[in-house]
Amino acid sequence: MAFQRTILGPAPRPTSPRFCVVCNDPTYQACPVCRSAYYCSAACRQSDRSIHTRLCKTFFDFESKHPPKTHFRAILFPCASRAQLIWLETRTGEEGHRRPDTSPWLSSGSEFSQRIEYDYVLDKPLLDAVYLTYGKDQTDSSKAPLNKCIRSHTATEATQYKWHGPVIAYAMQGNKNPTEYRDIDMKDFRHIINHFTLNGPQIELTIPPAPPEPTIKGIRINCIGDVAMFGKIHYEQIELLETDSIFTTASSSQIAARLELPLLTRFCVPHSL
Ligand SMILES: [Zn+2]
Ligand SMILES: [Zn+2]
Repeated sequence: MAFQRTILGPAPRPTSPRFCVVCNDPTYQACPVCRSAYYCSAACRQSDRSIHTRLCKTFFDFESKHPPKTHFRAILFPCASRAQLIWLETRTGEEGHRRPDTSPWLSSGSEFSQRIEYDYVLDKPLLDAVYLTYGKDQTDSSKAPLNKCIRSHTATEATQYKWHGPVIAYAMQGNKNPTEYRDIDMKDFRHIINHFTLNGPQIELTIPPAPPEPTIKGIRINCIGDVAMFGKIHYEQIELLETDSIFTTASSSQIAARLELPLLTRFCVPHSL
């Protein structure tokens, strides 16, 4: 059976400029295949190509089959296959709000979500917020496999973040307190990939190591017993912490006073530290 894909050709020029998904410059040029992402130049389009082409061709095929308006186009990032468009059904919950039903894809019970309201790669706020939702296994990498799909999208970037388990992305109208869902598009897709590049599934706090305590150099005069019994040298260079008791309990000598040098001495038990 022959399969023919429809290529829409150049998109009609929008009445107002859109913004390049790569550099954020104003532009009227949409991708001729999906007509959903805009590029200011061939160079910007080329730089987005490896990411964009993963969903571009299926985008309008998907658009033409819109189910009832309780469903919204979303993106599923499965663990071991390519990103795909899905219809995410929303249902009214007990509290009266519509919530997406992610149960066909997220089987791990209660979910976490992140709201993307700013693209830090493009350094601009998003008109509409995008949400990432994922199972609670995300917080325990031993329970969920590495999400190779997300990893492959960010493979060309120097990112340290690893996501586990499937992740679903959906969009809502408005930025701060959105209430209405909308179909996700290819501009959102680029914002999501930028987010994956800069963010992990949760904030991981790392406690920086404590700075080393300052030390002061000194000379340890080893007794004959230490030299004979333990092979120590007679005058041994040592470093003491600033908090060492020698600086509070030591005695000085008249020689030190005459030389006007701050020499402090303290008796040490033989073979002690
Ligand atoms: Zn551009
Ligand atoms: Zn496209």
